[in-house]
Amino acid sequence: FSDPTIARHSLEAVIQLAERFKEERGRIPVFMEVCGSHTMAFAKSGIKTRLKDHVGLIAGPGCPVCVTDQKSIDAMIQLSEEPDRILCTFGDMMRVPGSKFTLMKAKTEGKDIRVVYSPLDSVKIAEENPDKEVIFLGIGFETTIPILALAIREAERKELKNFTIWMTTKLVEPVLRVLLDSGEVKIDGFLLPGHVSIVTGKQSFNFLAEEYETSGVITGFEPVQLLSSMYKLLELLLEKKVDIINDYTYVVKEQGNLVAQDFLKHYLEPHDEEWRGMSAIPKSGLVLKEKYAQFDAKKKFKVVIEEPRKTKCRCGEIIRGLITPEQCVLFNKGCTPSNPIGPCMVSTEGTCAAHYQYMREE
Ligand code: SF4
Repeated sequence: FSDPTIARHSLEAVIQLAERFKEERGRIPVFMEVCGSHTMAFAKSGIKTRLKDHVGLIAGPGCPVCVTDQKSIDAMIQLSEEPDRILCTFGDMMRVPGSKFTLMKAKTEGKDIRVVYSPLDSVKIAEENPDKEVIFLGIGFETTIPILALAIREAERKELKNFTIWMTTKLVEPVLRVLLDSGEVKIDGFLLPGHVSIVTGKQSFNFLAEEYETSGVITGFEPVQLLSSMYKLLELLLEKKVDIINDYTYVVKEQGNLVAQDFLKHYLEPHDEEWRGMSAIPKSGLVLKEKYAQFDAKKKFKVVIEEPRKTKCRCGEIIRGLITPEQCVLFNKGCTPSNPIGPCMVSTEGTCAAHYQYMREE
């Protein structure tokens, strides 16, 4: 799937169809990818740059670090101020600026903040530190949420009283509905997230075709896979058909992973979730059911979160696909990967980081 010769042929084929679309409609087609890994793959492979005059590729709200609201970061920094606590998080969150500073700065000031690769690592830390409260910052989409639920099951099985998760998870369907309902961006089709679809299944995206008359193709992460899916989207557009295609059939099934879905339903329930740049979206996240409230950091600890400090960072608009990174005055000026002002420049899946690394014009 990453063979350069096949990729080159696939690219030419996509360009040919895109040109036919342009001739027919007088404009280029615009697709949105809804996965941070796709954003990075498009930039890194050069596909986005090569196609810029033929296909508009907009990065949507698919980077878990980028969509996490400022208040959750401020809350974690505040929670770390008590000496009897250990905060655990994924690495990318450490450098996301909070209203005052980052978790990294809090750590250098002596707070016990640890980077873990899995929420299960933080359960182990709780087991090894029974005199400390261990709090995990639970971010992520449907791909990650089952692992958070697994961590709760482990903590329950081990009868831990000192482990909680600050849940701020996100679901893809509600945010896509908000984007489409807003009509802020013209989207001809979606390149849908392969990893999320493993859990939710192809059927979870049928609403796009049935209710919004918009096509989507579930795709993988290698150049040939991405191009093959774009080709299929263009074919649908040219044939004036609307459909959801599973182009990642090796791992994505029609109904998804039913075991994971049942697992989520056992521990979690829908909740109105805050998104960066979009405020609260009804039922767009999952939180622990009341039965598991003992593992819910938001219920266990009192945190007073003020309105986040306003900056010139435009990540909120980047996430909604309204602007490109170059349209932010701070891009490659005040804001770079070594001095990020917003999460889209911090995250390894962030749109600004992808542009900076692979697409910026000096
Ligand atoms: Fe925010 Fe930096 Fe991106 Fe501007 S370039 S939107 S400041 S992350």
